[in-house]
Amino acid sequence: MENPAANPADTCTFCKIVRGELPSTIVYEDDTVLAFEDINPVVPVHTLVIPKTHYQSAAADVPEDLLGHVFSAATKVAAIKGVDKTGYRLLTNIGEDGRQTVLHLHVHVLGGTQLSIGMSPAD
Ligand code: 5GP
Ligand code: ZN
Repeated sequence: MENPAANPADTCTFCKIVRGELPSTIVYEDDTVLAFEDINPVVPVHTLVIPKTHYQSAAADVPEDLLGHVFSAATKVAAIKGVDKTGYRLLTNIGEDGRQTVLHLHVHVLGGTQLSIGMSPAD
């Protein structure tokens, strides 16, 4: 039976990255956010930006200033990765229909090639 007192941060993959318990290639970091390369990049630039504190998704009562800071940091990451002039996509998946697989808020920074329009339902 699941322990109702269990802290999701204990087992969360991205919290483990924040704690240094799992390796990552860090692109940007400040007091409240961390950006690191996606382990399975789907385009030439594929970096993830997360708050260092655990929130399940962007819909999990995240303080507005933190949510804004995550997106602001994502634009800095785009500049660090050299796609700020050519354009890029910021994407955050939420829940099952949104195809969220890691339940810790993250923004994908996607670029380095022209992206598909990609807003359609699954095949
Ligand atoms: P989601 O589908 O939840 O929006 O995206 C989760 C992303 O996290 C995926 O692109 C996946 O490749 C990435 N990911 C999953 N586990 C790890 C990991 O342990 N390290 C890193 N760097 N990325 C991960
Ligand atoms: Zn977490």
